[in-house]
Amino acid sequence: MSQNNHPLNSLTSSALDGVRRSSYFGDRVFGQQPMLQYLTKDALEAVQSAVVSGSKIDRKIADQVAEGMKTWAIERGATHYTHWFQPLTGATAEKHDAFFDLTSSGQPLERFGGGQLVQQEPDASSFPSGGIRNTFEARGYTAWDPSSPAFIYESTLCIPTIFVSYTGEALDNKAPLLRALNAVDEAATEVARYFDKSVNKVYATLGWEQEYFLVDKSLAQSRIDLMSAGRTLIGQASAKGQQLDDHYFGSIPTRVLNYMRDLENQCMLLGIPVKTRHNEVAPNQFELAPIFEETNLAVDHNSLLMDVMQKVAERHDFKVLFHEKPFKGVNGSGKHNNWSLATDTGINLLSPGKTPMSNLQFLTFFINTIKAVHDNEELVRASIASASNDHRLGANEAPPAIISVFIGQQLTKVLEELEGVSKGKLSPEEKTDLKLNVVGKIPDLLLDNTDRNRTSPFAFTGNKFEFRAVGSTANCAVSMTTLNTIVAKQLKDFKAEVDALIEKKDMKKDDAIFNVLREYIKGTKAILFEGDGYSEAWEKEAKKRGLSNHKTTPEALKAKVSKKAIALFEEMNVMNHVEVESRYEIELEEYTKKIQIEGRVLGDISLNHVIPTAIRYQNTLIENVKGLVSASGYRDLIEIALKNTGEFGYDVSSEVLNAKDFGLAQHRERIFFIGIRKDLAKKKSIKAIDVFQAILDQKTSN
Ligand code: ADP
Ligand code: MG
Repeated sequence: MSQNNHPLNSLTSSALDGVRRSSYFGDRVFGQQPMLQYLTKDALEAVQSAVVSGSKIDRKIADQVAEGMKTWAIERGATHYTHWFQPLTGATAEKHDAFFDLTSSGQPLERFGGGQLVQQEPDASSFPSGGIRNTFEARGYTAWDPSSPAFIYESTLCIPTIFVSYTGEALDNKAPLLRALNAVDEAATEVARYFDKSVNKVYATLGWEQEYFLVDKSLAQSRIDLMSAGRTLIGQASAKGQQLDDHYFGSIPTRVLNYMRDLENQCMLLGIPVKTRHNEVAPNQFELAPIFEETNLAVDHNSLLMDVMQKVAERHDFKVLFHEKPFKGVNGSGKHNNWSLATDTGINLLSPGKTPMSNLQFLTFFINTIKAVHDNEELVRASIASASNDHRLGANEAPPAIISVFIGQQLTKVLEELEGVSKGKLSPEEKTDLKLNVVGKIPDLLLDNTDRNRTSPFAFTGNKFEFRAVGSTANCAVSMTTLNTIVAKQLKDFKAEVDALIEKKDMKKDDAIFNVLREYIKGTKAILFEGDGYSEAWEKEAKKRGLSNHKTTPEALKAKVSKKAIALFEEMNVMNHVEVESRYEIELEEYTKKIQIEGRVLGDISLNHVIPTAIRYQNTLIENVKGLVSASGYRDLIEIALKNTGEFGYDVSSEVLNAKDFGLAQHRERIFFIGIRKDLAKKKSIKAIDVFQAILDQKTSN
């Protein structure tokens, strides 16, 4: 088959209708299967070990990987390659180079070597760096991230990369994320090994749910606010909004379904495991969710998805709105980040197991996560701050700007029982009782856990935490870097505390764990909240508890550069202070620019649309003004006007005159008011027609 006729290269994916999805899932991804087929044994092993242990790939092996990747990509019709990266603008960036090249003797060929695979130097001086680079030394380079597989998108081989400056600082969202994932892996593995010595690696998992609005392209294009600011800045609410609650989970309109099907086909080809689709609360609002994945991959997939969504929408004449609050008064869009930790032995650490020991393991990770959020609530809030998310947090159907954790009634009870555990060593009876009646009962408790709290920004949902305050436009990397860093730090501290009790107080491991957890439970109550997060009462209560409530981004962002935050990121090797401070600068600047754009668009709309419309309307009224004379209500108004001007010492009368009666070739009737100062008036009342006639007579006699 010629490359161009490859069915999977057709942009519209109608060729895929009726084909089993599992048969083409990941077809455009250089994943396990193609690697087996196209890589030498050495190359395959090197990539696999780089993924698992972060080991380096030497240049000779990189050449082999590049050769295999190139052959695979060209067979699939790829003509170009790019280092695909996530600069701090929040979007993704790419610069395409052709495989095509000429030899020194002018022979055409396709070339792609280890050098091009491993490192590139994009001319990227205009990406934000928050002062890390001066433009005169604006050198940064992108470096291959083997843990996220390369993929072909629209005939370009995309190689996921990190973007760093020559001085080593991260200029992107991916590098700090990888470091945070590394930190949480190290800390969580150590703790998981209390319970199972065979654990060697812990992965943070992420399953995002992406909400979005679809608007007809031509309608969107008629609104410069939607096009330039992503939301309506001015306008009239639709008569039928979401009052009837008839959109949520309703039947999906055919045109939208066609879009979704096309989009899902593209996702399948790109290895994005999308699973769920449904209507959301507001009219024309929808949601898409995948099967969860390892966090780095999931973040890449979400960034890629947002790009693909917009491109597929083009051919269905839709525009996708990712803005958190595109329309006032209707539901906003979020990106719910479902997060958990999983071991290389296949255990979800936030899922209770069958034995008391595995349940103690669950409790350990569960309570440590609560403590991490408790100790860093301001930083968690800062990780989701953006100009657009400010409109959503605390508005209808969205969590407030106050960070709290919801765990449900059943687990609240479990924590209460654990709080009563005695200090120091536990008696054998107490241990048995704990294991049988508290820890041992957790799986049964959770089985009928129907507790759901839609108002909570951070809710435990049975086997994972759902971080619901993330904005729909956000790059998931930012919040995931923070969450995994704070959990890593917390688990590290936990391990140190437990080990100290074991060594210094000669406690058994379980006793030490129970002791430390008990203190955590006592100290973190302020962050737990089961009630209505939308209510005013909660705002008051949260204030009493000392929780922050930063309603705007500039206020919220300050926590990012607090001494505590910088020390945290440095201790966990996620970011140094320069990297943290530069991100703060960039985010503040982005906030200012967004607001500035909105201001300008608003000015533009007012001057070019609102005011001209108002004037046109006034003109229509003027045209119609003679009608006022006969309209009974207005007649009274005119009487009042005449009387009032009379009180200023004028003699005023009104009359409707037609221009055609005065020699003009126009039939145009107007109402005229004639006022003559009383002391000058010769006659008691002078008629307008007489005045005009007099003026006209004078003109003709001249
Ligand atoms: P909901 O009721 O909130 O829609 P779902 O069970 O449908 O809950 O899951 C929502 C998201 O959570 C999906 O994207 C799913 O893949 C993800 N998810 C499920 N389990 C985990 C996990 N262990 N880690 C991370 N994400 C998960
Ligand atoms: Mg959800």
